[in-house]
Amino acid sequence: MNNKLYGNLIFELSQPGRKGYSLPKNRFGDYKVPADMQRKEAAQLPECDEMTVVRHYTNLSANNFGVDNGFYPLGSCTMKYNPKINEEMAALPQFAALHPLQPAETTRGAEAVCTLLCKALCELTGLHAFTLKPFAGAHGELTGLMIIRKYHESRGDMQRRLVVVPDSAHGTNPASAAVCGLEIVEVKSLADGTVDVEALRELIATVGGENIAAMMMTNPNTLGLFERQIPAIEKLIHGVGGLMYYDGANLNPMLGAARPGDMGFDVMHINLHKTFSTPHGGGGPGAGPVGVRKGLEPFFPMVSPYHGNFAVVMRAYAYILSLGREHVKEVGPLATLNANYIKESLKDVYELPIDGLCKHEFVFDGLKDKSTGVTTMDVAKRLLDYGYHAPTIYFPLLFHESLMIEPTENESKETIDGFIGVMRQIAEEAKTNPDLVKSAPHNTPIGRVDDVLAAKHPIVTYRQMSNE
Ligand SMILES: *Cc1c(COP(=O)(O)O)cnc(C)c1O
Repeated sequence: MNNKLYGNLIFELSQPGRKGYSLPKNRFGDYKVPADMQRKEAAQLPECDEMTVVRHYTNLSANNFGVDNGFYPLGSCTMKYNPKINEEMAALPQFAALHPLQPAETTRGAEAVCTLLCKALCELTGLHAFTLKPFAGAHGELTGLMIIRKYHESRGDMQRRLVVVPDSAHGTNPASAAVCGLEIVEVKSLADGTVDVEALRELIATVGGENIAAMMMTNPNTLGLFERQIPAIEKLIHGVGGLMYYDGANLNPMLGAARPGDMGFDVMHINLHKTFSTPHGGGGPGAGPVGVRKGLEPFFPMVSPYHGNFAVVMRAYAYILSLGREHVKEVGPLATLNANYIKESLKDVYELPIDGLCKHEFVFDGLKDKSTGVTTMDVAKRLLDYGYHAPTIYFPLLFHESLMIEPTENESKETIDGFIGVMRQIAEEAKTNPDLVKSAPHNTPIGRVDDVLAAKHPIVTYRQMSNE
């Protein structure tokens, strides 16, 4: 907002000789930096008074949108609000200041946190043992597949190189299988968005069951749908000697409702940063612990030194403890209720390609009325004008105008009603004043950017306004 007045860069506000600091008295006498280490000319640093610096950075920070400012319905990400207490626990110097090479007898507390978190994860998932080493969800997938590969090799089953992946899977699933040196075979989904069991049966017959290493499933899947055919699928895969892998990135709505271990899965990963509290905007750090059923733990590989991203582990443990055994069970049902409430309240104006009960998130295929020419991109941009973060758009790739909404369990009914009201308002504007929506955003520091131009002619340097 004040950017025009105050300049985009602190350098543009610089005035020669202006100072906003004072240094303490020189206590070193007339010591001089050796001549060969001295600069030939003065460093090009901004010279500003204190208030200019304070206002510049405060105004910049106010241009940022975060969950502490407003509702953030980004799909496929889950944890958006990360309770502050978890940050405080992770920052405790007794944990944060540990060195990984300290003698083991001085790090017993951190070890206990790891052991206790693994125990809690076993209880929540119904699996037997966990390793905390993987650094992310995708790293967990790779770790899990390495375990599966070693298991088959330990039995002399060298030919098992195929991994069955549904067409709705997150892109990391086939990528991890490929990195692990395995081959991917895709199984189709039904029109209702879940895995087609008959297609799986045919696929197994075609490729030969004795070649199947594993099947990877995400549940609820990337459309937010519970895979109801897991018992039949598990029977088919186990029947030919393959193992079942559970991509647990969407574990949030399962908390307290159902456990992958009880569904017959052998190996899974959990995205601690998605289900158990760690801010992950900007891409990390995260943690992707891997759990296995009894008998597979000897195959845990060494995928990182020490205990992975320990601060993420600390946050997860603090989060689980602060909810406690009884309240952790409310997470899944509340997230599911909030998502279904939004879906049902908007499905008369937004296209719902797959109807029925969803879990923690769901996907619209743009506005219902396609005659206005208003796209998902336009709706997302217009939401910014109303002070909402946009949902995930154009993912999953199954639909042309995907708009993926995930409210999470911690939002109040009033907040959710406010969002529903604005989404309806935008649908109305699309009819009465489509140009208003197509040219949005209007109230943000930067208006509609030209993505095509940005991709074709990227300008990655900034030309400074001259103040001379
Ligand atoms: C996010 C996600 C992943 C990958 O997790 P990262 O931590 O980003 O590597 C895998 N599968 C699904 C379903 C996801 O949503």
